[in-house]
Amino acid sequence: MTDPILTVDRITKHYETEAPPAVDRVSFTVHDGEILAILGPSGCGKTTMLRCIAGFERCSSGRVQMRNRTLASNDTHVSAEQRGIGLVFQDYALFPHLSVLDNVLFGLRYHDLEDKEGRARKALQMVGLQSYADRNPHHLSGGQQQRVALARTLAPKPELILLDEPFSNLDALLRQGTRQEVRTLLKDNGLSAVLVTHDQEEALSFADRVAVMRQGRIEQVGTPEEVYYQPRTLFVAQFLGRTNLLMSDADGAHADTPIGRLPLNREASGRVLVSLRPEHLTLAAPNDVADPDPRTSGKVVERAFKGHDITYRVACNESEYLVHTSNRFSFQPGDRVCIRPLEPGVVLESSPAASSVD
Ligand code: ADP
Ligand code: MG
Repeated sequence: MTDPILTVDRITKHYETEAPPAVDRVSFTVHDGEILAILGPSGCGKTTMLRCIAGFERCSSGRVQMRNRTLASNDTHVSAEQRGIGLVFQDYALFPHLSVLDNVLFGLRYHDLEDKEGRARKALQMVGLQSYADRNPHHLSGGQQQRVALARTLAPKPELILLDEPFSNLDALLRQGTRQEVRTLLKDNGLSAVLVTHDQEEALSFADRVAVMRQGRIEQVGTPEEVYYQPRTLFVAQFLGRTNLLMSDADGAHADTPIGRLPLNREASGRVLVSLRPEHLTLAAPNDVADPDPRTSGKVVERAFKGHDITYRVACNESEYLVHTSNRFSFQPGDRVCIRPLEPGVVLESSPAASSVD
């Protein structure tokens, strides 16, 4: 693999010495043309971390490097304008009294260029708004305004783009479309980007890799499939979607769980917490199962039909399980059913941040 375009090495940011750090020894890399999402709940330190990378905030410790150039370290702090990094904010912060073109030109104010207008028009063309150059921003839709903000960031041709919850002010329908357009734009132009968001669906669909952040720390980094299907901690399992948790006794590659003996995604021993997503379980009618395990037999409590699929809540031995199936498996509340796992159980580590009492 090529050298990373961005290396973030154990950066920490303390706002107040007494309080826990807003960003706590965060490390990751971004490769050329890669989109990395940092996913975490509100207040976990996402904006602070982006501001440290962009140079609007000084790191308390750690190092930020772009290719071979150190941008921040104990004795270095390159100013934001000198970093070659573009930042797109959540509130697009367009000037209402300036035209779309002048808003984009504003992004070039520190740049000594021959043909700033040509550059700004090219950036508007990249986001598909070349014919809107003379309009006022308030005559544009929210999605178009966000694209103007993106053009303003793209105009100076930054090597890396940071996006801070850029779609969260758009309504649901517009959000999905704009997200897809921006992803295509970044990919078509081979741009590298870091997106921060609290929206798991956004992170999973927008990024090539996802880093899950909690209380200032990164708990797991992986492809969208890895963090969703192979969460390492309880927090990652629960933050990325719904899951069934089973207290189990592991003996190597298998475990005895409340719904029978299951293979595991990795070797473990003793008491472990096992996660199984609702779509990794299915249901069968008791008559269709030869010699059913009594631990798997339950009753449908609730059925939510969603067209192409159905989610069931199933009571089984004093616990309830969520089961997500295609609409080929149709049961009704009250039906007796057998729960059948389709995938190995995922062994969760106890989460470091969860176990510390503070
Ligand atoms: P996120 O973007 O994930 O919502 P932030 O980076 O905005 O998180 O905030 C992380 C933590 O740092 C929060 O506890 C927040 O209150 C605190 N914080 C953010 N900015 C400042 C600041 N300028 N001064 C002091 N504390 C701050
Ligand atoms: Mg934020």
